[in-house]
Amino acid sequence: MSELTRLSAEEIARRVQAREVSSVEVTRAHLDRIEAVDGGLNAFLHVDRDTALAAAEAVDAEIASGTVRGPLAGVPVAVKDNIATKDLPTSCASRILEGWRPPYDATVVRRLRDGGLVPLGKTNLDEFAMGGSNENSAFGAVRNPWDPSRVPGGSSGGSAAATAAGEAPLALGSDTGGSIRQPGAFTGIVGVKPTYGTVSRYGLVAFSSSLDQIGTFGRSVLDAALLHEVIGGHDPADQTSIDAPLPPVVEATMAGARGDLAGVRVGVVRELSGEGNQPGVLTAFTDAVRVLTDLGADVVEVDCPSFTYAVPAYYLIAPSEASSNLARFDAMRYGLRVGDDGSHSTDEVMSLTREAGFGPEVKRRIMIGTHALSAGSYDALYGRAQKARTLIVRDFAAAFEHCDVLVSPTVPTTAFPLGERVDDPVAMYLADLCTIPTNLAGNAALSVPCGVSSDDGLPVGLQVMAPALADDRAYRVAAAYELARDTSSGTPFAATIPEPAVLETSS
Ligand code: GLN
Repeated sequence: MSELTRLSAEEIARRVQAREVSSVEVTRAHLDRIEAVDGGLNAFLHVDRDTALAAAEAVDAEIASGTVRGPLAGVPVAVKDNIATKDLPTSCASRILEGWRPPYDATVVRRLRDGGLVPLGKTNLDEFAMGGSNENSAFGAVRNPWDPSRVPGGSSGGSAAATAAGEAPLALGSDTGGSIRQPGAFTGIVGVKPTYGTVSRYGLVAFSSSLDQIGTFGRSVLDAALLHEVIGGHDPADQTSIDAPLPPVVEATMAGARGDLAGVRVGVVRELSGEGNQPGVLTAFTDAVRVLTDLGADVVEVDCPSFTYAVPAYYLIAPSEASSNLARFDAMRYGLRVGDDGSHSTDEVMSLTREAGFGPEVKRRIMIGTHALSAGSYDALYGRAQKARTLIVRDFAAAFEHCDVLVSPTVPTTAFPLGERVDDPVAMYLADLCTIPTNLAGNAALSVPCGVSSDDGLPVGLQVMAPALADDRAYRVAAAYELARDTSSGTPFAATIPEPAVLETSS
């Protein structure tokens, strides 16, 4: 593996901008790494070498003439394949969109390009971001770089595995119920779900519009923060975009890494931090909380009793919105069309296409959502789920009255074996227990690695949650924690991500 694929995004940017190395060399190193290992990982669905190298060349030329577009100019990045890109397909890992090329870039992709970043390709995901293991992709599961017999988490499993395995220094994902933080935890990297409305959803294929949020992956808190500032901020093209300054996440990260956490009030959410967690996860979490205390934080326990309704409420609200959003895949406008041979009516073509084009989990959600929104069930199901959502919002508000941030494990277990939960959707849904409350309330949260579990040697995530528009608080705490963690172990955690032989499938 080239040394260049081990560097942080911050270090790549520094070297490219100082012209110690070219963006073309860095981009080529990552493309070579993808060629070498992705046969084993399946993290990428589309890579276009020539387009990526041409973009890198253009950035190099600009830098040579004295123009640096932004702090991450010259750095390659991977993009989840539910985010629209003009020069690459956008499939959402679904047969129904196979081969579709959007006529436009998502706002976040335009901002990557404007900032001089180099998109490498599009990453695998659970179909339409519905899943927590990446096994729902129509194009095959993604494998976890720590142990290829295990899932990388989902739905942004491709972006997480790519970042962990050095195929990309940075990646974009989307988080509707945990799909950035959960795979971040399972692959030992940082994953961030920003405050709802602070990163544009324009060009993100909608799953559940009131919950969906684009966010970042990096192997360090600073890398995730730098990317967050490139993509974030108001966008008039997104009707739910908040017209407010983006929280200063890079500055907060620097402050966290410089200082202690004296006076920071940290609430441990009792409902998420006790029994029900795998023993090794709980130990790693408890150790992380001890580090926060040692850094000077005031740690207290807080009760968020309504969080126990989060999973059932989410699995009514998200499918309800999905059933409406996915109505647009009607065979008339995009992608697949089945049965258009003159012998079928329009309605028949629509249903033949949806039958052939959607996978089983997507169909399950469309049916649950359609039922929950039907006249006879609306009040009992969808309406009650919305009431539970309000209770969760209130629990957060009460907890944030006396805490600056809240913490929990990101996921109750480490990465589970491929196939273990595919026939048990409820077990699969429980992987989102700790992450869903934040999506329902719209606030910010991130996952930062907090070591490995003593039971299986797999990475564990510490979730740090902050109030809406106070994402910077989560970054500050995570950065202080990250530095203390690496100082006490003597090795940056990112350097401990293993290189399993099975990944070296070619070259
Ligand atoms: N695992 C959750 C689900 O299946 C979350 C997905 C997501 O955040 N996109 O809905």
